[in-house]
Amino acid sequence: MRKLFIIMLSTSCVLFLAACETSSTQQKAATATIDSAVNKIDTAEKTYDVKLVDNKKDPTCGMPVTAGISDTAHYENKVLGFCSTECKNEFLKNPKANIAAAELK
Ligand SMILES: [Zn+2]
Repeated sequence: MRKLFIIMLSTSCVLFLAACETSSTQQKAATATIDSAVNKIDTAEKTYDVKLVDNKKDPTCGMPVTAGISDTAHYENKVLGFCSTECKNEFLKNPKANIAAAELK
C-alpha cells in the first residue's frame, strides 16, 4: 500500500511538472504575440499616407514622398511629408529657401 502511494505521488509530481512546463511555454508564445502586435502598431504610427501631405517631394533631399514618409511638418497651412525627422528639421531651419523644392500639389 505504501509503495502504491509513492508511485502515485511521483506520478502526480511528474504531471504537475509537465503542466507547469506547458503553461510557461504558452506564456512565452503569448508574450511573443503581444511583442509583434506592438511592433506592428509602432510601424503603423511612423508611416503617413501620401494623400495626407501637400508636397510631392521631400524638400530637403528631393526624395518623392511616395517612397515613404516618416515625419511631417506644417508650413503655411500646408502639410509637408518628409522621409525622416532629420530632413524635416533641416527644412525647418530655413523653410522659405526650401519650400520650392517641395513641389506643392
Ligand atoms: Zn529626406
